[in-house]
Amino acid sequence: MTKAQSGDAAVPNKAKSTRMQVLRKPQACPKCGAHDMKRIIAGRPNREGWEMIENGEAVHGCCFVSFESPDWRCSSCGHHWFDPTDPGRKEMDNLLRRILGKGKKERSMHV
Ligand SMILES: [Zn+2]
Repeated sequence: MTKAQSGDAAVPNKAKSTRMQVLRKPQACPKCGAHDMKRIIAGRPNREGWEMIENGEAVHGCCFVSFESPDWRCSSCGHHWFDPTDPGRKEMDNLLRRILGKGKKERSMHV
């Protein structure tokens, strides 16, 4: 009895609630190799995001989201980066591209 789950057949609520993207946690910092890193939440965190920040699992990044905003921050050396091969990250970039449109790659990050 295998009841096939209706996987991605229909997505009931679009864009209404911004769910946290599920990303693969990196094994180690690409710069210093430390294993202590935190998720960077860019933009305005939702409740899930705030909980992660309160639990010390995440840090609040810059206040707006851009194409190349990093997802991870090393607690050891402060290096921040993102994994362009991560499926969750790709999805997020596609979404951003649709929202921001214009296909322009602007690098206007204040850090
Ligand atoms: Zn590091």
